[in-house]
Amino acid sequence: MAQLIDITKVAVAPQHFTARVTIANGGPLTTDQDLVGTTHVYNLLPDIIDHACLGDKGATFKDVMGATEVAHLLEHVAIELMARTGIAGDISCGRTWEVTGEPRTYDVQLACPDDVLVASALSSAAWILQWAYSGARDPKPDVDAIVAGIRSLVADADALAAKREAEKAEQEGAGADGGAAGGGAAGGADVVAGSAATPDAGEAAPLEAPAAAGTPNADATPASADASARAHN
Ligand SMILES: [Zn+2]
Repeated sequence: MAQLIDITKVAVAPQHFTARVTIANGGPLTTDQDLVGTTHVYNLLPDIIDHACLGDKGATFKDVMGATEVAHLLEHVAIELMARTGIAGDISCGRTWEVTGEPRTYDVQLACPDDVLVASALSSAAWILQWAYSGARDPKPDVDAIVAGIRSLVADADALAAKREAEKAEQEGAGADGGAAGGGAAGGADVVAGSAATPDAGEAAPLEAPAAAGTPNADATPASADASARAHN
């Protein structure tokens, strides 16, 4: 099996990130088709059995992990990675369903606090499943390193988004937008944000800034497209 899980397309909405995934021919469609591989995933990330899992029978993922879609396992591995970054906020929900008329294909939908975060967690999760279902050979995935990598991808993308915001605000030359430009991006954006905030903040800026800062997602999209392309290799 060359590549177990192919992420063929993604759709980003303000609240949700939906990835269409296809399981390769020869790969397991359900976790009970390769319990040894499923056990490798469990041993690597034992916390996933405590995830809330509404949907099928039962209340936690433990009740279904032994016999569910591999795409559903992918969802929970991605959620676990996101949770471990500590920057995902309260992500409890995800959903996975079969795509009608397309064999071996599923849509995996996750709540989306940050699209770069979700995209990189999903592609890392796909890689972990690839490892688990193809013999779990060395090197074993280093979960801490993966989580650190995701965190720094998000920080890079935030900084890039803030920089683009700042450039846009400069081009528009309007003081009104300038004040808010840097505010939306958390963490690593601070350095760049300073330059955006200073130039002649116009009359309207101070009052509008908090509202504008709450909607960073729209402008984060171009950066995330880069990031997910990178993550796919
Ligand atoms: Zn679930």
